[in-house]
Amino acid sequence: MPEKKIRALGLMSGGLDSTLAANLIQNLGVEVLGLHFSTGFCVADRHRLLGNFNNRDKPYRNDALHAGAQLEVPVEIIDIKDRYLPEVVLNPKHGYGSGMNPCIDCRIFMLHRAKEIMAERDYDFIFTGEVLGQRPMSQRRPPMHMIEKETGLEGLLLRPLSAHVMPPTIPEEKGWVDRDKLHGIVGRGRHKQMQLAEEFGLVDYPQPAGGCCFLPDENYSRKLRDLLTFNGPDVDPDDMMLLKVGRHFRLGDDVKIIVGRHESENDFLERFRDGRGSVWVEDYSSPLTLIEGPLSAADLEFTCQITARYSAGRNESEIPVHWQVDGEQGQLRVQPLGEDRRLDEIRI
Ligand code: SF4
Repeated sequence: MPEKKIRALGLMSGGLDSTLAANLIQNLGVEVLGLHFSTGFCVADRHRLLGNFNNRDKPYRNDALHAGAQLEVPVEIIDIKDRYLPEVVLNPKHGYGSGMNPCIDCRIFMLHRAKEIMAERDYDFIFTGEVLGQRPMSQRRPPMHMIEKETGLEGLLLRPLSAHVMPPTIPEEKGWVDRDKLHGIVGRGRHKQMQLAEEFGLVDYPQPAGGCCFLPDENYSRKLRDLLTFNGPDVDPDDMMLLKVGRHFRLGDDVKIIVGRHESENDFLERFRDGRGSVWVEDYSSPLTLIEGPLSAADLEFTCQITARYSAGRNESEIPVHWQVDGEQGQLRVQPLGEDRRLDEIRI
């Protein structure tokens, strides 16, 4: 009987580290399936929704699928959005990092799901692109060990890029992968990874500074906290989606406005006009502003002034601004808001 080929599941974000890990494992003769988890907080989703607004001719691409195509490794997208917000983001057993990023619980959740897939489809082990010491929350020795323990993956979770500085795993002990061919990368530097990329002929990969998840981002986390505070934990998926675009201002406990920052965001906001008020300037290039919640006459005037501030008519003494609220529409002549400390006070 032919020897069974060893098969491994790799968590693939589309970043350089997970791509290198998949390449390494694949080069050792292991059949690899990449898993890309879609959490609802992926930066890639924003790019998919908005396109590339710096270069609208350059098509959007999903980095995980692109990495899979480069390596000729199949990648499956696993949608975990429904459970991820209530179970992981809102209730992290191990707390948050610098923003609302529950990295330890996030890794545990994804690895639990990967472990189920491993059992269902008869894979032999799981690997990730994690590098010891690279991230302050989840990529230190104690949490990495705890994650293995809590997922029941002790010995079956290989981190090929840092394998030499970690205890040997079952795949290494059993000779499924050659430990000598793995690496001992530690820390935040990227030099070694870039050398490896060159060695593997990988030239087209995302820059690490971009990040792949909104949750560690301070600005995004502030908007998410605000939404949860004023709307409660049963958030509407559209409201979650809108956190990814525009300038957000809170005018009252139940009134928020979102001001588009460029044409792509205006196009995106346009899709959410139904059921919301809107404000825009017709005579000048202008943001589209969406209004959520019941607005007083003073709030409407202020919203028109804010919208005018971000339009190309900002230096005029007065410009006409259009509004549409609760099926009614009209026009207000307002002075565009200048430097005004109220803006900082209401900015989310
Ligand atoms: S940065 Fe986001 S996706 Fe990555 S581990 Fe943390 S919470 Fe999860």
